[in-house]
Amino acid sequence: MTNFDIQRVIIYPRKSREDVEREKETGEDCLAAMTEMLCNTCKKRSIQYTENDIMPEIGSADTIDDRPVFKEILETYIPSGSYQGIVVREISRLGRGNFTDAGRIYDALIAYNFYVITPHKIYDPSNLADKRQIRMELFIAREEYENIKERLWEYRDAKAKKGFSGCRSNTLGLNSNRGKWSIIPEEVKIVLDVFQMRAKNISFPEIADVLNSRGVKTKYGGKFYAGTIYKIVTNKRYIGIHTWKGVEYPAKHPPIVPMDLWNKVHQEIQPQNTHAISSPRDNDYLVELYCHECGSRMYGWKQKRKNSEYIIYDCSGRRNGSECTHLKPGNKIHKTVLEELKKIILNPKILMSIISESDKSKSTNLMRIAQQIKDREKLLSQKEKFLLRLDADYEREDSPLLPEIYNRRYSETMTVINNLKNEILKLKREATGLNVKVESIDFVLKNLQLAIDNWDKLNNKRKKVLIKSFFPRIEISRNGTMYFDKNVPTSLE
Ligand SMILES: [Zn+2]
Repeated sequence: MTNFDIQRVIIYPRKSREDVEREKETGEDCLAAMTEMLCNTCKKRSIQYTENDIMPEIGSADTIDDRPVFKEILETYIPSGSYQGIVVREISRLGRGNFTDAGRIYDALIAYNFYVITPHKIYDPSNLADKRQIRMELFIAREEYENIKERLWEYRDAKAKKGFSGCRSNTLGLNSNRGKWSIIPEEVKIVLDVFQMRAKNISFPEIADVLNSRGVKTKYGGKFYAGTIYKIVTNKRYIGIHTWKGVEYPAKHPPIVPMDLWNKVHQEIQPQNTHAISSPRDNDYLVELYCHECGSRMYGWKQKRKNSEYIIYDCSGRRNGSECTHLKPGNKIHKTVLEELKKIILNPKILMSIISESDKSKSTNLMRIAQQIKDREKLLSQKEKFLLRLDADYEREDSPLLPEIYNRRYSETMTVINNLKNEILKLKREATGLNVKVESIDFVLKNLQLAIDNWDKLNNKRKKVLIKSFFPRIEISRNGTMYFDKNVPTSLE
């Protein structure tokens, strides 16, 4: 027997997003199981109900406006006076859409003194402690929801790394259901057509036109565009590779496109991109050089004179609107850079002074960050105390805070709190980044010596990387003086 005056209740089974996700995975009917559990709760507490009092919500939306059954409960059944309570899995099932929703639900429960019955507890709105808990749970529900989303994401992540689909698939030719893949033969045919057309060097827009004229639709029922075709022919899933956050895993479905067809297509795609791969700016000459006069990049060009080739560095300032004309011979620049690298080996003090300089600026930065974290933590604790005070104010009998004002202040404060937490996290990350260890001087010197000994055997790209790691910026003035910004490499192959 219950001590409460509850004659008739609404049973409100409702799937949460997690339930929907679980249904997809396991196929079990969450709504039926929940209804049974809620009915048992009533039986256990000797609360009457009829079949008509069971009002299940089919969807899993979070806002009231997207839950027609609950909307009716809130607007019709609760005010009708025919019911004294609502039976739910937990208070948060009533709503976790937003603060306005929470306020609406809370107001209705208080105004009609409506009981909330969960398997663990009956909440009585006329009881101050219960009232307080209802309010806290309705408002906290939103926070919880964010946490759950995070957990769901972790779960998907783990699954995706095993080659299942992490999210809903929009890959033409494949369907993913409960994480498992199935092949759709008629879509596979389209995919193969696309690859075959591309292998014949038909352009992306032309392929899209062909499919559109055949009345073929994309996975979403839309038109094909050049970009859609590009995505299809570059989707490695078709050769059985599943990419998740930039890492490749073997997919849990057989490949759809034969490897020789894939290779043929990709030999064809490359020439379209050649200008991006080797633009004149992205040259493989040795030095990333800047003009000391105007700050523009100076690019190296190969020039031919009679039977010999030589490199000339040319200021690109003209292209950026300055009048600078600045040409320097490459061989002299390359020689000076190599000399400068050798100086480091002859005089390790250069490196030591760079390290002590960077240590000094690092420790100043770390101190600055520590102070910023401290400031934010102080503010955070003030805001949290404010929330508690806000609550106490709301409870006061003499001058009660209006619910709208309470809700508004609560949500505003929560926003500030969340922002502060994010900022603290970012600052902490920044501090960790600063603690990256520089290589030991011995190690750096040994490797540099090795590189200089084999200088002529190194390819241009490696020379460029090595130079850049010691000299992040090199400039040359009109009279030929070179300026080197120096640095200690954080890692050396
Ligand atoms: Zn210049």
